[in-house]
Amino acid sequence: MGDIRRVLVVGGGVGGLTAAATFARRGMETVLIERRPAFDIPGIGLGQPANALRVYDTLGVLDQILDTGFSYNEMWLFDRDRRLIVEHKFQMGDDRVPAFCALSRLQLHEILLGAAQRAGAEIRLGTTVSEIHEEKDRVHVVFSTGKRETFDLVAGFDGIRSQFRQHLYGTAFVPRPSGYGAWRVQVPRPDCVRGMEFLQGIGGKTGAMPLSNDVMYLFHIRPEAVGANFAGQDYLQLFRDRLAQYGSYVREILASLTADSDIVYSPIEPMMLPWPWSRGRVVIGGDAAHTVSPHLTQGAAMAAEDAYVLVREVLNDDVPVEDRLVRYAMKRYPRCAFVYTFSGQWLLDEQSVRSEEDLEAARIELTANASARIGASDRLLDGPI
Ligand SMILES: Cc1cc2nc3c(=O)[nH]c(=O)nc-3n(C[C@H](O)[C@H](O)[C@H](O)COP(=O)(O)OP(=O)(O)OC[C@H]3O[C@@H](n4cnc5c(N)ncnc54)[C@H](O)[C@@H]3O)c2cc1C
Repeated sequence: MGDIRRVLVVGGGVGGLTAAATFARRGMETVLIERRPAFDIPGIGLGQPANALRVYDTLGVLDQILDTGFSYNEMWLFDRDRRLIVEHKFQMGDDRVPAFCALSRLQLHEILLGAAQRAGAEIRLGTTVSEIHEEKDRVHVVFSTGKRETFDLVAGFDGIRSQFRQHLYGTAFVPRPSGYGAWRVQVPRPDCVRGMEFLQGIGGKTGAMPLSNDVMYLFHIRPEAVGANFAGQDYLQLFRDRLAQYGSYVREILASLTADSDIVYSPIEPMMLPWPWSRGRVVIGGDAAHTVSPHLTQGAAMAAEDAYVLVREVLNDDVPVEDRLVRYAMKRYPRCAFVYTFSGQWLLDEQSVRSEEDLEAARIELTANASARIGASDRLLDGPI
């Protein structure tokens, strides 16, 4: 038996669930804690690219994901009246995995939770960490329940407001507001929406991602005031005002929304942590280490990849544990930094369209270059991890 036998994973999102399932499948005694009292995360969707689907395949849940979600191999860029600018065939995937499969976040979490439980991971809900005490070859943890336990490794996949990033870095390297925000709502899927699509507007961009044969989510990205705190009862009117310039099915959807429609707003707060992502035997991954704007739909995919690579590297006990954890972050940094940079630049480019003239210039630029640009990203992210 190696020097890692008992692992604590903090956070029950895509990263933490993938890490817990992977550690447990490798025979580690694995405990996952999640601060929410239930796995009831709201049902907005996640596009999962081929690179993430391959990680889920190692957990034996690929077929379940493909059966649940909506697979697609193309994306489309339109203008705001849904006149085609570019059709892009993704250069990702193979005989086994499509370029993308999108599904509700809740369903993906439930599938990964099942994988973790079947592998033997112990799941504790409504639990956080109150204290961490590090020794050379172990970590003592006091839980919010008052219970004290000792682990060989603690992996913090605790999201954008990570307690464990703060444990490692203090208040440095926290995600900062970009000045842009994302609005989303789940709605019935019109037949014409057959994959991810973007509608370039003036002063913002909207788009759709199918999550199943029946539903999709409509999203909108635009400048929003830093710290904006919208009142729930205003969401419907704010959403309608913001999308008023768009035609086609967007107009019909806006008319069909009601005060009960579950419209969600999230500020976009990118952050890329330099490595190492660890100290001693405490390590982080997923949004705790990097948050990206959603343009490549790779945020959760990077969290899943982090989990897979962390387990592979840390259980390969050729050098001391601390060195393996540094090696993990060094291996992960280039891919995550690529997604961070590419997505961030895409955000700035699309949001710089502020007039009819800009829109015409964007149409010419996208027609000439968008597919080649996205194709280069596809090939890189489709490569080995
Ligand atoms: C608008 C938008 C659209 C997106 N679309 C996509 C997409 O299509 N595809 C994609 O791949 N990614 C997408 N992303 C990114 C994706 O949502 C994140 O990158 C992903 O959820 C990160 O997973 P994670 O496990 O690292 O963190 P999270 O999903 O945030 O999970 C962290 C978990 O830890 C728990 N937690 C936090 N603190 C503690 C604590 N102290 N103790 C115990 N538990 C704790 C939280 O409750 C949570 O359950 C999108 C993001 C946004 C904002």
